[in-house]
Amino acid sequence: MVELSDRRSAHNYHPLPVVIAHAEGAWVTDVEGKRYLDCLAGYSSLNFGHGNPEILAAARAQLDRVTLTSRAFYHDQFAAFAAGLADLCGKDMILPMNTGAEAVETAIKVARKWGHEVKGVREPNIIVMEDNFHGRTTTIVSFSTDPDARDGYGPYTPGFKIVKYGSADAIRDAIDENTVAVLLEPIQGEAGVLVPPDGYLTQVREICTAADILFIADEIQSGLGRTGQTFACDHEGVVPDMYVLGKALGGGVVPVSAVAANADVLGVIRPGQHGSTFGGNPLACAVGNAVINILNRGEFQTRARELGERLHDRLRALPGVITVRGRGLWAGVDIDPSLATGRQVCEAMMRQGVLAKDTHGSTIRLAPPLVISAADLDWAVDRLELALKEFA
Ligand SMILES: *Cc1c(COP(=O)(O)O)cnc(C)c1O
Repeated sequence: MVELSDRRSAHNYHPLPVVIAHAEGAWVTDVEGKRYLDCLAGYSSLNFGHGNPEILAAARAQLDRVTLTSRAFYHDQFAAFAAGLADLCGKDMILPMNTGAEAVETAIKVARKWGHEVKGVREPNIIVMEDNFHGRTTTIVSFSTDPDARDGYGPYTPGFKIVKYGSADAIRDAIDENTVAVLLEPIQGEAGVLVPPDGYLTQVREICTAADILFIADEIQSGLGRTGQTFACDHEGVVPDMYVLGKALGGGVVPVSAVAANADVLGVIRPGQHGSTFGGNPLACAVGNAVINILNRGEFQTRARELGERLHDRLRALPGVITVRGRGLWAGVDIDPSLATGRQVCEAMMRQGVLAKDTHGSTIRLAPPLVISAADLDWAVDRLELALKEFA
């Protein structure tokens, strides 16, 4: 099956050689019946676990009622989704899309339109960060600094200024009269779970307020419980002007993404000016509503916080581990590069029954579903220790 998959699909991924047939909670089972602990969780799309019963029940019930209307009509799941998500974000309104990249594109379009209409800017620019990851569209890869993501896809969309992540001064210096927004990940996931210096998000908030520009937080991977708070921005008590959400918003069932902002910002979009055939469809909203209910209870934020401390403490003590970054149940682990590459470590972990993904060089990323038990989490770290011993 691996061979057939590789022969008949473009090689835009380099998967670990495991063929998954079944999954439940934090565990997956391959076609031969071997079980693995999932420590990637669909890049944080599966925060609430594989086959979460509450989410599946909502999806199943909706499948029998109505799954698609298009936004040409209203449907009975939409209002609750819009209001529920806006409330979760503390914002007036949301705009639903499907994938994360579409939500980022939406944020960019809203910021540009807000710049044109509210600020009267002719050629708006948006400040973005080095080593960002915001998705794969032509506009988004135009401001990527990763050659793999960007090279060969020109001509590139203009209107972006790239600055160093974690430096408030770099943002201050880059702002000019045409700047309309700062777009950043409150924790850079793909870059290796990079947590910015304490106080950075607070400073970004102050800078954006002073310059009257929008602070856009891409919380697609960092948000919805992963870090031990609903949003990674919550760790500094910071509220951006626009949240960009995706991944776990779809409960691991369907792609659901959205931006959330106040009416003075999102109100610049009027009928016919932006949209998506599938965005905000009944199935997506029913699943989204289940996710919002779960997040409103707060149990997974608490779990991520408590188990996260345990995870980080244990990882730091492992021989062969140089640095551990992250918050909550999210860790970027730098392995001693003289031992092995991240890929080699992930292959060894797979043999030990744990699925994880390398990022750059010798960094591996751990982000198990937040439903993981403390015992399973300990087991995963034990297995990583065993995997590292293979190279010692
Ligand atoms: C995954 C991700 C995206 C893109 O989401 P897709 O659903 O793959 O388009 C954007 N931003 C961040 C921070 C992400 O982690």
